[in-house]
Amino acid sequence: MPARRHPRPPWRGAGGPLPSVHPPAAELRLPGRVATLSVHTSPLDQPGAGDAGGMNVYVVEVSRRLAERGIAVDVFTRATSSDLPPVVEMSPGVTVRHVSAGPFEGLGKDDLPAQLCAFTAAVLREEAQHEPGHFDVVHSHYWLSGQVGWLARDRWGVPLVHSAHTLAKVKNAALAEGDAPEPLARVIGEEQVVDEADRLVANTADEADQLVRWYDADPRRTLVVPPGVDLQRFSPGDRQAARRRVGVPADAVVLLFVGRIQPLKAPDLLLQAAARMLADDPALRDRLQVLVVGAPSGSGLAEPQRLQELAVRLGVTDVVRFLPPQPPEQLAEHYRAADVAVVPSHNESFGLVALEAQACGTPVVAAAVGGLHTAVDDGVSGLLVEGRDPADYAAAIRRVLTRRELLAAGARRHASRFSWDRTVDSLVDAYAAAMAEMAAGTGRLLPTREHAARDAVRLLPGGTAAR
Ligand code: UDP
Repeated sequence: MPARRHPRPPWRGAGGPLPSVHPPAAELRLPGRVATLSVHTSPLDQPGAGDAGGMNVYVVEVSRRLAERGIAVDVFTRATSSDLPPVVEMSPGVTVRHVSAGPFEGLGKDDLPAQLCAFTAAVLREEAQHEPGHFDVVHSHYWLSGQVGWLARDRWGVPLVHSAHTLAKVKNAALAEGDAPEPLARVIGEEQVVDEADRLVANTADEADQLVRWYDADPRRTLVVPPGVDLQRFSPGDRQAARRRVGVPADAVVLLFVGRIQPLKAPDLLLQAAARMLADDPALRDRLQVLVVGAPSGSGLAEPQRLQELAVRLGVTDVVRFLPPQPPEQLAEHYRAADVAVVPSHNESFGLVALEAQACGTPVVAAAVGGLHTAVDDGVSGLLVEGRDPADYAAAIRRVLTRRELLAAGARRHASRFSWDRTVDSLVDAYAAAMAEMAAGTGRLLPTREHAARDAVRLLPGGTAAR
């Protein structure tokens, strides 16, 4: 990994040990209102296509639960259609604000850095209509929002809590064949946000470690908060009834892929594994059903028919069904109908799909990468596969099928350890601790003239003043 590069901003607070990030609970004030930034994708979008996926689900679930605890949430997201009303109440206490920044349609994620100034201006102007102190915290999601959050933090004097969701350096290190590397501008942008945030929220200990080792994040400001799963919505149910509802025969062997269709997610590996299973056991053809739920996304948009063409080449079109993105209730039925959910991604910062499938009592065969080490309890709730050989996936799927009931029980147990309420408990703690630190002036400093002047003196060789 490239070594570090940027000088630290002068108000970063040179010298002196940093205080603990957790002041005693009694001293903590809870936030009343959070500004949540989700520049490039809206919590109102259907996940499973384009830029909408796990991050959207995260923002929806966390915002709703914060509001239920009396913490209002304003989610700022870029308007992508002229039909969108400027303000939508997503759920009680959660307001989605559609920000006009650039043309509504036709902008990809890579075009958005040019719109960040317009986006930031709109966020600052919305806040300026209220009394000072309207927001207590800014929580940014993905580096583009982090860039906006960094400015809002400095202007409002409130802490910036940042969730990266994915990291360019990590993505580039596990690039799928045919996928373009993430641009250097994103790497630099992420490094800046890591420098500027008061708290960095990582999904797993692995991600926290990547932030520290690859992005030089301050470990004292980096915390691990696992995402959750809605255990009411994603719950075990009658498999045969679910099969009837999704149109799968009672005796079928059902393999399920759920996610955005793009090289990173590698649904092609599932098709190859299915072809291998059929080659090894031709009699399986009468019963095998491979369901692929999702729509093209990212670099997958350039060749939207690629997976269908692969199915033709592999001679498996008769056993594969492609389905459009499904809303959560229908998705749960698909998880319940499946024998095995397969998550063969090149990388995942967590992998909510794996957790949701397990919550429905369906074991998972997943790549032994990134957050999937946490999302799947290897050998207990499913199997993790090293490498990307379709034969290994076929073998793992067969192993899961032979002890499905045992693994299904392990899957439910493992998923029940995660909940969005627990995620929100930790986030509220992090918000309150960062607020207390800022109020006490013990954390990262705000960019006042006084601080800049003091740090300018410190930065001179030998520490001598030049004024
Ligand atoms: N999803 C959905 N409908 C679909 C496909 C996916 O609602 O048809 C949701 C799914 O429930 C999950 C999220 O999209 O919560 C995908 O999250 P994951 O962490 O698996 O992948 P990401 O999209 O973040 O890369």
